[in-house]
Amino acid sequence: MSGPDCIFCQIANRKINTPFVYEDEQAVAFRDINPQAPVHILVIPKKHIESLDSIELQHKELMGHILWVSKKIASDESLPKNGYRVVLNTGAKAGQTVFHLHAHVLGGRSFN
Ligand code: 5GP
Ligand code: ZN
Repeated sequence: MSGPDCIFCQIANRKINTPFVYEDEQAVAFRDINPQAPVHILVIPKKHIESLDSIELQHKELMGHILWVSKKIASDESLPKNGYRVVLNTGAKAGQTVFHLHAHVLGGRSFN
């Protein structure tokens, strides 16, 4: 599923009104609708990529950028340097429910 049918493409293309906490030419970030921590932000590429398992060598700079944005968000949200989590659920059996690649940035509580 991509383009008009993909919820995260719709968010990235502003077809659904979701405030961005960060945007640049390659990526956007917005708060998760069902937060699992006091800070729970999703970082996505604007380009539709299904999951981490779909990436190719040509995507390595984009993936580095997604991680850089994740770190910037942790800093902007004042998450402690010694305690936040960045998660890429990959595939249905790992809990991926939206098949447009996204990094979860989670913080503000302790993780076991
Ligand atoms: P996954 O389970 O695929 O790793 O994560 C998908 C995440 O997207 C879930 O945490 C879910 O709450 C979030 N989500 C699903 N639909 C929407 C939406 O329309 N808006 C926002 N902000 N988050 C969404
Ligand atoms: Zn998409």
